[in-house]
Amino acid sequence: MSPNTTLEDRTCLVTGGSRGIGKATAIELGEAGAEVAVNYKSSLESAERTVEEINEAGGSAIPVKANVADPAEVAAMAAEVHDAFGTLDVLINNAGITKDTRFDRMTDADWHNVIEVNLHGTFYCTRAFYEDLVGSDHGRLINISSIVGEQGNYGQANYAATKSALIGFTRTLAREMGRYGSTANCVAPGFTMTDMLKVVDEEIQEKIKRKIILGRFAEVEDIAGVIGFLAGPDASYITGEVISVNGGMNI
Ligand code: NAP
Repeated sequence: MSPNTTLEDRTCLVTGGSRGIGKATAIELGEAGAEVAVNYKSSLESAERTVEEINEAGGSAIPVKANVADPAEVAAMAAEVHDAFGTLDVLINNAGITKDTRFDRMTDADWHNVIEVNLHGTFYCTRAFYEDLVGSDHGRLINISSIVGEQGNYGQANYAATKSALIGFTRTLAREMGRYGSTANCVAPGFTMTDMLKVVDEEIQEKIKRKIILGRFAEVEDIAGVIGFLAGPDASYITGEVISVNGGMNI
């Protein structure tokens, strides 16, 4: 089989690329020939492992540290990425957190922490690389929303608010970026087997699973494959979309 080179000559940044969906995405992009910057906040070792896996598979990757909720750290990360790559073709805003609790128990901190990472982080990163994305006719902005942003979910008012907001943000950016030939899309994963899902009570996990037509949680590769497709040349006429990858939870 010939190697996949659909992203040769493309540079990509995956925020939250040290674990879970972001890690699988960074590997997917690296295996397709892209140069990949793997962002992390605190897990240097995991980010280095992701970078190693990409480099061992013949790709090219670097780890870049930044808390996406901190605009100064994002600006420093952007400078590092520009030094390494020159310009950025594909930005995947994937870093995200949850602080789940029923609304009547939700504290200011629960609300603000989630908004700061999931929503403000996406704003800071997009702003830091916007000129790059509209500076070529193949810029790709891919924001990771969620089934929870589409449907809401018990105990996740803060998280749902951010994931719905990303849909409006992305559709607006699609309108503004279109004249340059660049695209903006959301991927809305369903429940996916990562650290984020592992902290959910087993009983609740079983309840969720019963709502999934395919009867299983997503593997990270199920999501990463779709993100890789959106980053690649076959998706050049797709923009402003929310691609739901949830095993059939929306029907
Ligand atoms: P995960 O396994 O918990 O990994 C989260 C990643 O985000 C880690 O790499 C983490 O870095 C990074 N991160 C967290 N806060 C950060 C910050 N402030 N700055 C920079 N990086 C930060 O999560 P996941 O399940 O793969 O989720 C990835 C994305 O998919 C999220 O946006 C999530 O909302 C979305 N999603 C997940 C599911 C699901 O069921 N898992 C479903 C729908 C959507 P460190 O390792 O350094 O902490």
